[in-house]
Amino acid sequence: MSENPFRQLPSVAKLLELPALAAARARHPHAVVADAARAELEALRAALAAGESVAGLTDPAAVVARIVARLAAAPRLRPVINATGVVLHTNLGRAPLHEDAARAAYEAARGYLNLELDLGTGKRGSRQANVRAGLCALTGAEAATAVNNCAAATVIVLRAVAAGKEVIVSRGQLIEIGGGFRIPDIMGVSGATLREVGTTNITRPGDYEQAIGPNTAALMRVHTSNYRVRGFTKSVDLPHLVELGKKHNLPVIDDAGSGQAVDLAPFGLPGEPLVSAGIAAGADLVLFSGDKLLGGPQAGIIAGKAALVRRVEQDPLMRAFRLDKMTLAALAATLRLYRDPAQALREIPTLRMLTTPLAELRQRAEGFAARVRASPGIASAVVRQDVAYVGGGSLPEVAVPTALIAVIPEGVSETVFAARLRAGAPAVVGRVRDGKWLLDLRTVFERQEEELLSAVRVAAAGREEERTTEPQRTQS
Ligand SMILES: *Cc1c(COP(=O)(O)O)cnc(C)c1O
Repeated sequence: MSENPFRQLPSVAKLLELPALAAARARHPHAVVADAARAELEALRAALAAGESVAGLTDPAAVVARIVARLAAAPRLRPVINATGVVLHTNLGRAPLHEDAARAAYEAARGYLNLELDLGTGKRGSRQANVRAGLCALTGAEAATAVNNCAAATVIVLRAVAAGKEVIVSRGQLIEIGGGFRIPDIMGVSGATLREVGTTNITRPGDYEQAIGPNTAALMRVHTSNYRVRGFTKSVDLPHLVELGKKHNLPVIDDAGSGQAVDLAPFGLPGEPLVSAGIAAGADLVLFSGDKLLGGPQAGIIAGKAALVRRVEQDPLMRAFRLDKMTLAALAATLRLYRDPAQALREIPTLRMLTTPLAELRQRAEGFAARVRASPGIASAVVRQDVAYVGGGSLPEVAVPTALIAVIPEGVSETVFAARLRAGAPAVVGRVRDGKWLLDLRTVFERQEEELLSAVRVAAAGREEERTTEPQRTQS
């Protein structure tokens, strides 16, 4: 070896001066581009140190291309157009907020607000007071409070009501929601002891009764949000559990999960009990998520008997699980919309998306497909009927009929096409199946259609690096 191979490598300073990195430098802070350049050079040095050939990898154009790829792959929150048709997509942030809720969060974020101040008296107020009335109106409960998410709601409720004692749950309801939420583990964290009764498919009232003893603190029903046990099954419904609770003077906790607050049965979406039904059936505490079917921000709602809600609010964990000002503002605005259920159905994005009639969606899809078809680089784009799922651990068996656009790009595989769409700004996420890229407009806002069309055109033309719809950084 005549020359030190490490000397073939350009310096970070030299790389940053290359005109090919100008677009990246306009988009990212200098330090971020410099870090990517340094990481790329380190990778090359490591390859050389390991005796690997770096032939062809060290010329500036190749190095720049890999730096740009590193920047694109770096974890960073970016807007995504959800073309999957999955309304509550956990990986895409679950429920998109109503404009009023989003604006309330924005205003709360950028200034001061009366978060814990009673403007009437000038004295200290309660943070929870901002959502209490709305939650009571929504659920019919006499008291309510809110924490960070439904997992936190479950932990704090079990701790406040049953720490050191037993909570009876049917074996058919020992769910795992995903992201590590398993009822037995949550029970362990709370300090309550899980007392399982019945079997996976059959649990009878007598099973609960046999297990009730001096150490029992509560009966709990967990909604099996993301699965169903079918066939030869029996479970004890909430009214019967409430009856048992009354007989033995035990509170009944209902983990209702997805927080459906308006009846979607007229739209062909049956199955979820309404949050008001739990209270009406006599449950002492009902828990549900803010960002599933309710269509609000991430939150865990606790509604029910005043004495129990007070006990929960006095638990030291309340301070750890409390909502921040932005979430609280967004939740309060969402709850205001529910005061007019017809308006909520029409305007709350999750509800509007779920209840869009198939005929309307099909018409929208036909119009959009024609524009996609007319684009260069697109071999075909046809509308076809399919089904979508609600997602987010809600309504697992309800397949919502939908109209998909199946796109076949020209001269590029559907997986490369999908990767280009994901790399764009805004990113677009669809589905890939049977050699086609599938686009479902159900989850695409009408205001996003022009952006989506241009994203599809750019991806079809193979120019993913040149998309400049992302706002440029203002130089300061
Ligand atoms: C989704 C769900 C949870 C967890 O709610 P998060 O708000 O995601 O923490 C708990 N219980 C049930 C029954 C659920 O469906």
